[in-house]
Amino acid sequence: MTIRSSKKTTETRLVSPDTRDEDREENTNILRPKRLDEYVGQSHLRQYLGVTIESARIRSAPIEHVLLYGPPGLGKTTLAHIIAREMDAHLRQTSGPALEKPADLVSVLTSLQTGDVLFIDEMHRLKPHLEEILYSAMEDRCIDIMIGSGAGATSIRMDLSPFTLVGATTKLSRLSNPLRDRFGHILKLDLYETKDLERIVERTFRLLGCDGVGADIHQLVASRSRGTPRITNRYAKILRDYATVGSDIRDARVVSDIFEKIGIDERGLDVLDRKFLAALSRHFGGRAVGLSTLAAHTGEEEWTLEDVVEPYLLKLALIERTPRGRRITHAWEQVVREYSE
Ligand code: ADP
Repeated sequence: MTIRSSKKTTETRLVSPDTRDEDREENTNILRPKRLDEYVGQSHLRQYLGVTIESARIRSAPIEHVLLYGPPGLGKTTLAHIIAREMDAHLRQTSGPALEKPADLVSVLTSLQTGDVLFIDEMHRLKPHLEEILYSAMEDRCIDIMIGSGAGATSIRMDLSPFTLVGATTKLSRLSNPLRDRFGHILKLDLYETKDLERIVERTFRLLGCDGVGADIHQLVASRSRGTPRITNRYAKILRDYATVGSDIRDARVVSDIFEKIGIDERGLDVLDRKFLAALSRHFGGRAVGLSTLAAHTGEEEWTLEDVVEPYLLKLALIERTPRGRRITHAWEQVVREYSE
């Protein structure tokens, strides 16, 4: 299996934390944790939500609207499902880009029953005129519907059932202040620590029926997963496939060879990361470079670099953000030395 570095790298990249069809098929069914106590890592957030949910249950009231933000693949959708399940509530799921016209949003909102959880993914892609409908829906639990047009237009107010909106976004800064202000809880998801990903990969192997895989392999997979459970699961499934056709994935050397074959190094970096880092260090000679210039140079879209590539490189301190753009750090020189040894 090879990783291409064409314009469409994210679609073929193994490290892309975007949902791919095979993730959807398998994760939704068995890998997605169903309850808060199965949700690994993000301990502050888990504790906080635990209290919030318990309190709402005791008061028999829906929890206040929740906004989850952080890079893709960290568990925002999973948490929305968990919130609904823990509240014994029905989940309705949609996304910013799927809601095109006011009627789309109005029909979702008016179909909600008392206590339902409405999950809107990619909130930052919600159209501004739809945002305005959400303001009154979130705050006053009602919407104003315009009937007719021009001078004869009248508006009718419709009450909504009490509901909880769970919004998710990778770009908090793109949400308008009035929208942000209407969430009672704004929660950030961070990239996971390796020890948490080790627990996730152990669980995933168990659920996929891969027995006898030891702690050394869990560590090996976790440390290459870019702090992202979706990537952990993807690698576990690749290893399961290798095991199915005869590889002994209990052997660390075999697993390391598989990672080498698929182009993932010990830090979890792939071809696009290396291209990005090489551009900053060699092509731009260590200068701070703007995102659009880097996108043009690497042939990637800006959002891919910002959402998918940079968070992990920043966590590894291989790059830093400055007011003038992204810049390579000295840590990268050490990595280059290791690569050339
Ligand atoms: P996001 O919505 O942030 O892009 P998802 O909620 O779809 O991410 O998570 C991707 C996959 O990663 C899930 O299907 C689930 O299997 C796994 N996952 C995410 N968070 C956790 C977690 N905390 N513990 C275990 N598995 C997780």
